[in-house]
Amino acid sequence: MVNRHAIQLKAYPCGQNRLKVVLRCARGDIKSVIVNYGDRYGPPGADDAQLDRRMKLYPAVEDDLYQYWVGELELEARRFGYCFLLDDGQDKLWYSETGFSLCRPPKPLWRSCFEYPYLWWSEADEPPAWAREAVVYQIFPDRFANGDPKNDPPGTRPWGERPTSRSFFGGDLQGIIDHLDYLGELGINCLYLTPIFRAPSNHKYDTEDYLEIDPAFGDKRTARALVEACHAKGIRVVLDAVFNHCGYNFAPFQDAVRRGRRSPYFDWFFIQGEHIRTGPDCNYETFATGVWSMPKLRTDHPAVREYLIGAAELWTRELGIDGWRLDVGNEVHPEFWREFRRRIRAVNPEALIIGEAWHEASAFLQGDQMDAVMNYPWQHLCEEFFGRRTMDVRTFVEALNRQRMWYRESVAAACWNILDSHDCMRFLTACGGEKARLKLATVFQFTTIGAPYIFYGTEIGLTGGEDPDCRRCMPWDPEEWDQELLTHYKRLIRLRREHRVFAHGRQVDLVVEEETGLYAFARVDGSEYALVCLNTGDRPVVLDQTTFRKAAEERGLGGVVARPGILAFQTPSRESCGLRDPESGKVILPPLGAAVWIGGLPASEESLAKGPE
Ligand code: CA
Repeated sequence: MVNRHAIQLKAYPCGQNRLKVVLRCARGDIKSVIVNYGDRYGPPGADDAQLDRRMKLYPAVEDDLYQYWVGELELEARRFGYCFLLDDGQDKLWYSETGFSLCRPPKPLWRSCFEYPYLWWSEADEPPAWAREAVVYQIFPDRFANGDPKNDPPGTRPWGERPTSRSFFGGDLQGIIDHLDYLGELGINCLYLTPIFRAPSNHKYDTEDYLEIDPAFGDKRTARALVEACHAKGIRVVLDAVFNHCGYNFAPFQDAVRRGRRSPYFDWFFIQGEHIRTGPDCNYETFATGVWSMPKLRTDHPAVREYLIGAAELWTRELGIDGWRLDVGNEVHPEFWREFRRRIRAVNPEALIIGEAWHEASAFLQGDQMDAVMNYPWQHLCEEFFGRRTMDVRTFVEALNRQRMWYRESVAAACWNILDSHDCMRFLTACGGEKARLKLATVFQFTTIGAPYIFYGTEIGLTGGEDPDCRRCMPWDPEEWDQELLTHYKRLIRLRREHRVFAHGRQVDLVVEEETGLYAFARVDGSEYALVCLNTGDRPVVLDQTTFRKAAEERGLGGVVARPGILAFQTPSRESCGLRDPESGKVILPPLGAAVWIGGLPASEESLAKGPE
């Protein structure tokens, strides 16, 4: 009997005439799913929907409990009626909006089938096209490079000293300009800067003036020069929007401190009583409990909204930036982000709007607020699996897959896949200093769905524990760099950017082996595919082409992935590990090794011999 736990998880437009449907079934239950669909209105004269088209859904991913089946329906009419036929190999079961039935849903069909009344797809509701092709590099300006000692704040510490939460090192925008050649050679194409507006702290998340660049970083002229120089190198620039809260010195807050309820800004904050009481025992809402130097802003207040969005609009226009990262984005009023999106996109229709979110965030990702998020839930899994080794490969992949089904495909592809950031331990440190684990994690990061993201310095082996230790100064003496790691990063960035399959392709898991730790998956995009093999275990693994071929066939990829490609990437290098078993000729992946093949369709039969077999 077919299990009746199937549920339609999502249905959303993915083009002018295309509707994507995602069906969630009990794992291991269903052999095939066919969707019957058609115009929800019948042809002229008919009094019912016809549902005369049929299409097989494909099994996209599995988690511990469920299998997710996905399909893209296409209709000129843009008005869809549909129902599913589930088949477990013995029995069949119909599934429509009215529930399950052994026979075809009763007439009139328009009443019983699922309906998507009309597709209102718009490019404006999607992340900008470039977002999925981004390779992001995050800079914490005080720590990247000091290009102008004249603007150093008082008490600036010697470059490279271990940071405390209060230390300043004099890094600035000129320092970034001075090192753009480094970033160009690295190959990144998107630069994200943590806040640059006037604020007393080194991190500048306590904004004092939203309309002024912090003088320790430079001025409007330096900021414009930085953006122009980045654009000349094909690098886009994303700035940090800190709108959930302001700094203690923000003039409207100070006015409210002075005048209490008589201040026109009193209602900009959540204040209990008639006067503000500051300090640890403060009587207003703050960013996180007890952080009284960061009062929370009432982003549902029209004047607050006008002021902050006006500032963001101004900077988007004045500097010509390419997007905003929204600090504590999920605690700001949704209507604030809706207006923000409309107005920022009016200035720059390609602006990326990416939220900070440490949890599932689909409420903000429906196309009217944020384009995507910094993928912290993904980071947690990578840290536990690759870094701390607290999770086996199956649990890791199942948890990843559950996360991937949270969002629309275009959103998942634009999310920033971070291994580390200014808010968490350096990934090499999370790996206990074991570089091979960092390298393996980065191969996954650069080949899976989502935009890879580098926190400055991780690419040259910078280490550090939780904040403030993760915010150490970037060393500029190449003698201090891990050159081998840097080369590894450069090769991965080139791989990602040269093959569009990584930014655009579907991802299909082929092998997840608890016993050996082998994780192999395919990325498929029209005529191109990539086969990615990661040995996450402690012993060498022999790669077996037959297993890949069988898995690919089971997942509806036919012979696509079984066709061999060109070995495009491997770690450790061929020289150091000898990638082939001299006896069988089969490819061997050493412990923590990874290999990526790229192939195109159609491949000729004789090239089969060149594959990983
Ligand atoms: Ca400086």
